[in-house]
Amino acid sequence: MKIKMPKTKVIATLGPASWDEQMITKLLKAGVDAFRLNMSHGDFQDMAKIIKRIRHCSTDMARGVAIIIDLPGPKMRLGEIPSPIHLKKGDEVVFTNGKKHSYKDAVYLPHEISGFEKKVKKNDIIYMSDGVLQFKVLEVKGKEILTKALLPGTVRSHKGINLPGIDFKDGAITDYDRACIEFAVKNKVDVICVSFVGGKEDIDKARALIPEDPHYRPFILAKVERIRAVEHIEEIVQAADAIMVARGDLGVELPIEEIPVIQKRIIRLANMYARPVVVATQMMESMVDNLRPTRAEVTDVANAILDGADAIMFSEETAVGKYPLEVVKMAMKIALMTEQELLETGAMSEVIREMVRDSKRIDDMISIATYDVLCNVSVDYVVTPTTSGTTARRISRLRPYQWILAVTDNLTVRNVMNLSFGVYPLYMSRLNIVGNDLTSFLEAQGILKKGNRIVITSGMPFGVPGTTNSLKVIDVQ
Ligand code: PEP
Repeated sequence: MKIKMPKTKVIATLGPASWDEQMITKLLKAGVDAFRLNMSHGDFQDMAKIIKRIRHCSTDMARGVAIIIDLPGPKMRLGEIPSPIHLKKGDEVVFTNGKKHSYKDAVYLPHEISGFEKKVKKNDIIYMSDGVLQFKVLEVKGKEILTKALLPGTVRSHKGINLPGIDFKDGAITDYDRACIEFAVKNKVDVICVSFVGGKEDIDKARALIPEDPHYRPFILAKVERIRAVEHIEEIVQAADAIMVARGDLGVELPIEEIPVIQKRIIRLANMYARPVVVATQMMESMVDNLRPTRAEVTDVANAILDGADAIMFSEETAVGKYPLEVVKMAMKIALMTEQELLETGAMSEVIREMVRDSKRIDDMISIATYDVLCNVSVDYVVTPTTSGTTARRISRLRPYQWILAVTDNLTVRNVMNLSFGVYPLYMSRLNIVGNDLTSFLEAQGILKKGNRIVITSGMPFGVPGTTNSLKVIDVQ
């Protein structure tokens, strides 16, 4: 069997448009590698049901699927609005969580932000819905913040609010996030996204909330969406298991024109440290309502892949849009076409090899040597028996032409490996790398066949994460 899917990973956020069993099954068949559940929308009971549903729908999938929960973090939000409010440019709008309504002609918007009136002053700009709506503060009277709408648009319940540069005194992890992490552990979620990370300490805090368990170690994914995170990017990349360029909030926290270059820098750093990196938000936003994306969106997805993104993520497109399945199918087509260029030119591997060579680490050198063999000898697959997935990720960042068959005896490790470019994860209950067990297993999966040549890269003694130290070329007999 030839694996016929793009090597780029696709993450679909689930929501009312997609979280029923039929659509989850269709999305899995179309090639989705991970589902994201946004904990800002939905209670634990509903989320637990969806997690069960995803596991049920993916039972027969050898490569599994990663389940990601996204913590709300200290995100500021509007309160409940009975129906959408359409605003015109220049409309007077008051943000308040009090009862007093002193401005007769103004539109009142309730919020859930404690001490909001103390966080803003005259002439500040309040951003809403990732900056689609903007309000200039005219005056602050008691709890009422009187503003002027700078742009026309529609306001809906619980929309996110940004005050660029604001410091979160208590760090990125709120009490509700702690409860979400407990929920994630209870439901064996594979990836926990920490929002509004400011530095390494936020990743360490999240990690400390997860009980040590040799059989279950979820990934901590750092969402880069604040100036502070950009300033501390290297320590964040080192501390986290995976990274997301969360362009929604990032595009409000920073001047929007800085996003393309920052995206490239974050991706390159994550590649260097072999951390899977996700590019998110507005990848194909127009497909929320339309069957075809714009040329600019197609180019954006392709460029993220060429920059070195492991995965692309869809938010509203798959959660509330009209065409979740078509979005995923379109992403697959763009990825398949684009990655040919990346894989055939080997352009990315050259840059990464140069960056990694100086590390003088054995595991880095073995991954480079593996890549050299793959380029110079005819090989069908790379096989990496792995307990943590580290070996597979180190090879993945070099973007070899061949698939990396990553075999593990840990289900969470298998699931998180779905985030790494070109890695095809497989679960083998009694993983044994001595003798023919591994090749027999891959033959039984219908992937390997007699006559195939494989490169096996692993660490000996087997079972100690991060000790990639051996490379073997085998002709399957
Ligand atoms: C983002 O800000 O780009 C993002 C992915 O986070 P959220 O969906 O929570 O806004």
